[in-house]
Amino acid sequence: MRDTSKHQGLRNQLASVLKAKGIVDENVLQAIRTIPRHLFIDSSFEYHAYQDKAFPIAADQTISMPYTVAFQSQTLAIHPEDKILEIGTGSGYQTAVLLTLKATVYTIERQRELYKKTSLFLPKLGYNPKKFIFGDGYKGLPSMAPFDKIIVTAGAPFVPKPLLSQLKIGGKLLIPVGDTKQIMTLFIRKSATEFEKKELGDFAFVPMLEQKN
Ligand code: SAH
Repeated sequence: MRDTSKHQGLRNQLASVLKAKGIVDENVLQAIRTIPRHLFIDSSFEYHAYQDKAFPIAADQTISMPYTVAFQSQTLAIHPEDKILEIGTGSGYQTAVLLTLKATVYTIERQRELYKKTSLFLPKLGYNPKKFIFGDGYKGLPSMAPFDKIIVTAGAPFVPKPLLSQLKIGGKLLIPVGDTKQIMTLFIRKSATEFEKKELGDFAFVPMLEQKN
């Protein structure tokens, strides 16, 4: 598949749309302008890629709306070298945004098909997370904890305790919580036992899947 000046034009427009919707972080907007989102979805639908909407990928999952990806990235205020845990690799688009912001990324996917597909695909485009993990996001990644930031990209029925406990002091967990729609919820770890909680509005995600036994 190719990346042409037409795709570049559509990406510039998409970045303007996101700006109009309230995305102000210039690094995030620049990542949206840079990453060829059309390569993350089936090629027959490539021109859907630069509309601000979610789109089906493999295994009944979706690539998140660009606005949602930008909002989560902006809210986490990613700094270069931040050590980030991502729950829900999916297409790898959010992963690519985090990597473009120069974070060190560990990304977990629970569906083998997507894990396989995306762990081959992203490096081909030059996006290299520290590690792709096939596993259960409810457990986080205790072996690599603590993290500066944890981002959950599926709707969680509740806030998994292991994710809170795997944050550094000062670290942030951003997680959409709820069943049919979700409230984007930010937790900031203040101390070993204290967390500040902020609710940041309604979003719609595919559900975070319970662990298979
Ligand atoms: N960031 C992705 C979002 C994909 S949708 C993108 O923009 O493409 C959510 C993803 O979370 C799906 O790929 C789904 O399979 C995955 N997922 C759902 N439950 C999970 C769990 N318990 N652990 C890890 N990943 C999970």
